[in-house]
Amino acid sequence: MKIAILPGDGIGTEIVAQAVNVLGALDLRFEMETALVGGAAYEAHGHPLPESTLKLAMSADAVLFGAVGDWKYDKLDRPLRPEQAILGLRKHMGLFANFRPAICYEQLVGASSLKPELISGLDILIIRELTGDIYFGQPRGRRIATDGHFPGAEEAFDTMRYSKPEIERIAHVAFQAARKRNRKVTSVDKANVLETFQFWKDVVTEVHAQYPDVELEHMYVDNAAMQLVRAPKKFDVVVTGNMFGDILSDEASMLTGSIGMLPSASLNSKNQGLYEPSHGSAPDIAGKGIANPLATILSAAMMLRFSLNQEEAAQRIEAAVQRVLVQGLRTADIHSAGTTLVSTAEMGQAVVAAL
Ligand code: NAD
Repeated sequence: MKIAILPGDGIGTEIVAQAVNVLGALDLRFEMETALVGGAAYEAHGHPLPESTLKLAMSADAVLFGAVGDWKYDKLDRPLRPEQAILGLRKHMGLFANFRPAICYEQLVGASSLKPELISGLDILIIRELTGDIYFGQPRGRRIATDGHFPGAEEAFDTMRYSKPEIERIAHVAFQAARKRNRKVTSVDKANVLETFQFWKDVVTEVHAQYPDVELEHMYVDNAAMQLVRAPKKFDVVVTGNMFGDILSDEASMLTGSIGMLPSASLNSKNQGLYEPSHGSAPDIAGKGIANPLATILSAAMMLRFSLNQEEAAQRIEAAVQRVLVQGLRTADIHSAGTTLVSTAEMGQAVVAAL
């Protein structure tokens, strides 16, 4: 089992170090190789995703990724910005399915901005399509308008598009994931306004015929945004396009209290995957030793489950995380009265001890 370790920037190096310690404490043997990515790679090699890093990622069974980015790179040309490394890895590895579970741990119910009864026991899975939609559709750009409300004015435009195979493969992923859970899929669209999402709805409905044991509901994205904060426990698996998924998965992450708790997985058709916390590089707290490493440790658990076929080890890590929460250990982002404040490294050590 070969794992590429790409810590990245900011808190990335601090939290990935803890996840690596946790993996090292399992009775499994991994080949782990570390490489630079993001701003750190730009500084050393002049590119956020150097050829050597890409080669390592492509040759591994899985990539454990920290986070990339810093405000100081905001003025660089877009292709050289740290965030481009993630887009490059997604593209080259063919990662099309992004899994973001939003689970509310009983001990952290008080950390959410929603009422405890709304989120207690919450366990939903957002599946976002990663390769299509308005983020990648061509043509895009700026031009002088020849029609519309202001002919002759400067305008910008993007293209929203999805092909049938793109929608089919993500729909299959969602129905298969639902079979391992509560057998309900909510497909989120904007079919009332957008041609692309009427097509999305039609194709998802067609694929559903192969999964009669799974319930399918369709929901407009505006309603889904509302239902996520009104009655989030009504969802099981939510599947949606790239842009709606980007926004809804961040909304869902806040249901659980802290973004520092949320893992994610991005998979290709061979189950090779990139595993990373849902948050960014948090430059505001980098180097202080206070970041929460649990999202990254839980991402390593997802890696064991999805790409390395080690379900038992994945469950052991998840149980160990649960145990440190029961013990009352908290990093600053989830700390409250009556619990014990710990550093990034202490939290990692506690998970290793619980294992
Ligand atoms: P962010 O997620 O880095 O931080 C948002 C807030 O959450 C900050 O206050 C931060 O301190 C806090 N936070 C994040 N992770 C935490 C953790 N593990 N423990 C405790 N607190 C945590 O988002 P941002 O501030 O909008 O972006 C910072 C940089 O990260 C930018 O350069 C952005 O482009 C980049 N970014 C990278 C990724 C990625 O690598 N996948 C994702 C999002 C943002």
